[in-house]
Amino acid sequence: MSDLIDNTVSFIREYFETKDVIPLHVPRFIGNEKEYVANTIDSTFVSSVGAYVDQFEEMIAQKSQTTSGVAIVNGTSALQVALRLAGVKDGDEVLTQALTFVATANAIRYNRANPVFLDVDRDTMGLSPEAVKQFLEQYAEVREGGCYNTKTGNRIAACVPMHTFGFPVHLDELQAVCKEWNIPIVEDAAESLGSLYKGKPTGSFGQFGIFSFNGNKIVTAGGGGAIVTDEVEAGQHAKHLTTTAKKPHDYEYYHDELGYNYRMPNLNAALICAQLEQLDRFIENKRTLAGKYSDFFEKEGVTFRTENTDTKVNYWLMCVELEDRKQRDLFLEETNDKGIMTRPIWQLMYRLPMYENCFRDDQTNAEYLEDRIVNIPSSVYVK
Ligand SMILES: *Cc1c(COP(=O)(O)O)cnc(C)c1O
Repeated sequence: MSDLIDNTVSFIREYFETKDVIPLHVPRFIGNEKEYVANTIDSTFVSSVGAYVDQFEEMIAQKSQTTSGVAIVNGTSALQVALRLAGVKDGDEVLTQALTFVATANAIRYNRANPVFLDVDRDTMGLSPEAVKQFLEQYAEVREGGCYNTKTGNRIAACVPMHTFGFPVHLDELQAVCKEWNIPIVEDAAESLGSLYKGKPTGSFGQFGIFSFNGNKIVTAGGGGAIVTDEVEAGQHAKHLTTTAKKPHDYEYYHDELGYNYRMPNLNAALICAQLEQLDRFIENKRTLAGKYSDFFEKEGVTFRTENTDTKVNYWLMCVELEDRKQRDLFLEETNDKGIMTRPIWQLMYRLPMYENCFRDDQTNAEYLEDRIVNIPSSVYVK
């Protein structure tokens, strides 16, 4: 184990060429970022309308191969609104995974709905279509008005798969089961911008997809998010809802439903436009590092997580799978001690006080991964 730690530390230090602390993920501004941000200041359009917001909405639709993109203030709010537009209401149930970042579950709760935590697949680390199928076969019934949980009487209003660290879930199988049970999919693709499943971008498989452009994501707006969809009217409704639901008028203030101020400022849109120009380059850079990590850890006898055959992964955050909780803790302890930032995967949602009473199935795979998965430094690095 101490050989593994020493070799890992020197491998990472050699790659990133520094003796300083090496973070998990830092943004890189090596394109037109300064120019575009300066343009917004020169134009005075730094706030909620501006040319970069429009440009960004076109770019994100194009990158995700969808017809409509809507700029949102952050990924969590994007998911909240996408769920509302998918029809999630007070008291509904939403199927998702317990192995996720807390924002996935929070966005469900903001709609006064309850997450139902189903297991993940071991290979994708994301929502298991088989677990969804088993849950529905045991509890669900399709009636007029949708799919219902026969045990609780609540409607099962949506399914939210999350593509953990950029690894796509088994989308064909998940789409098939959700279609059979008449449940819309809202993809939490916050971590998987640019990842492909059978050649098609994640975020484009559900009724809605959402992305995050927080500072730690593969590309950043400083803070930001987006909703994408192929339903043009739903896209327009998303824009309307997130811009206070104001009816366009030369001077009157009239708002026709309860909207939100979830706009992305033009200042942030300028940054993300410049970042999106770099996305393909960033992904290639990360894939090169992933290849090097893969070779290195193979020699060390440690599993480095690589993509399934029908996917192309953006490798936003790279990870290793250690033997057990004990080895994981030792690895975390010693690498962090030596200035190499490593982090465990999230604690499962039902361990958090606000979600401890939610329904969950047998979480064998989620608990297996929770004990073993560790993220390692994954930043884009240009020599
Ligand atoms: C980052 C992230 C979000 C939320 O994004 P913010 O922009 O930080 O609100 C949602 N879900 C997942 C899985 C994330 O990793």
